[in-house]
Amino acid sequence: MIHYDTIIIGGGPAGMMAAVSSAFFGQKTLLLEKNKRLGKKLAGTGGGRCNVTNSGSLDDILDSIPGNGRFLYSVFSQFDNQDIIRFFEDNHVKLKEEDHGRMFPVTDKSQTIITCLADKISELGGHVQTNCEVVSVKKAAGLFHIKTNTGKKMVCQKLIVTTGGKSYPSTGSTGFGYEIARHFNLKITDLEAAESPLLTDFPHKHLQGISLTDIKLSYQRHSITHDLLFTHFGLSGPAALRMSSFIKGGETLLLDFLPQMEPAELSGFFEDHRHKTVKNTLKILLPERLADFLAQPFPQKIKQLSPKHIQELIHTIKQFPIKTTAKMSLAKSFVTKGGVSLKEINPKTLESKKTAGLYFAGEVLDINAHTGGFNITAALCTGWVAGSQTPVCTDTDQSLANE
Ligand SMILES: Cc1cc2nc3c(=O)[nH]c(=O)nc-3n(C[C@H](O)[C@H](O)[C@H](O)COP(=O)(O)OP(=O)(O)OC[C@H]3O[C@@H](n4cnc5c(N)ncnc54)[C@H](O)[C@@H]3O)c2cc1C
Repeated sequence: MIHYDTIIIGGGPAGMMAAVSSAFFGQKTLLLEKNKRLGKKLAGTGGGRCNVTNSGSLDDILDSIPGNGRFLYSVFSQFDNQDIIRFFEDNHVKLKEEDHGRMFPVTDKSQTIITCLADKISELGGHVQTNCEVVSVKKAAGLFHIKTNTGKKMVCQKLIVTTGGKSYPSTGSTGFGYEIARHFNLKITDLEAAESPLLTDFPHKHLQGISLTDIKLSYQRHSITHDLLFTHFGLSGPAALRMSSFIKGGETLLLDFLPQMEPAELSGFFEDHRHKTVKNTLKILLPERLADFLAQPFPQKIKQLSPKHIQELIHTIKQFPIKTTAKMSLAKSFVTKGGVSLKEINPKTLESKKTAGLYFAGEVLDINAHTGGFNITAALCTGWVAGSQTPVCTDTDQSLANE
């Protein structure tokens, strides 16, 4: 049986960074991943370009982690988004900043990030086994005993669980980490969909594929200014995903297509274009297909509209109602809300308070963030911190069989 100082289960961003840091701190390290390749979910972020982090300030980052962001103060004091940027630059991966502080590799390819992490693990002497699913974990005489689907057995002093949440299970995140946690008597908080696309009873066909920059989406006291995408089922894009935290489905949202223009300013704009049709005037401000759609009830020229009609037109642009019918299921949402209860985890080290040597990092924890690089930042930073802790010897004796 091969003995490692540290074994990490799950080769997403949290697991890869945990392997880098563990190997960097001189531990004999093994990363196990059940997929053929590392980072399958990471590869799909940012439209396949990998939204690897966000350049925002610490406050911006914490505000963008609505699910227990404050737990990460200590983690970010050890390794934060600036360290992520420095890490990639030191390892010859140039990053670029896009809208809303989102950071991407200049190659626009997720594989650049994944290859960099994988190369770093091996440069530091760490080992990786892909196509290798962990099926059971037990702890006996101070060591974790790991069994894989291929029948391989290995032991380690320190085990880091980075198996992700339960969303997009086709990427490998099927919730095995929760079973490990339960086995070691850790509590799992309720799992829910977060950052979910919204289903609406809106005439999608007309607007499908239109993406809008910095619109305002409101529901009661919640108001989000960000980008929005009309899809074949309803709404996606950051504004819809963020709004999903505040609704259950069935609510009517109000969409302001032009939040940067006050009603009086819009009214003046229409007056300046009074000889044009409504459609041609709206085309100056909005994508053509959207302008066509919004102008349907107003086929006239602006100068032919009564003051009441002008007010109706402005109301349509500033407070367009969209009825939601549901949120996407957890499996089709971007992030899992809930996970290993943070009450059970030491915030400085990410070690279980109940089982020495057992660590958790990434989305398996009860932490959820907005898309835009914030989940990946949390995964990479918690991964680094969990990997950097020195293994300890204990004699707790527990076992988990998942066969
Ligand atoms: C389509 C999509 C787009 C997204 N876009 C963004 C974005 O723009 N910005 C952002 O911040 N976040 C985004 N996210 C969320 C982000 O990708 C995740 O939060 C992040 O990948 C979590 O990292 P992780 O390492 O904790 O888990 P994961 O990336 O899920 O990795 C877990 C790994 O563990 C492996 N594993 C599980 N069980 C076992 C086992 N028993 N044995 C061996 N291996 C196992 C899995 O195969 C998987 O590779 C997006 C998610 C999706 C689905």
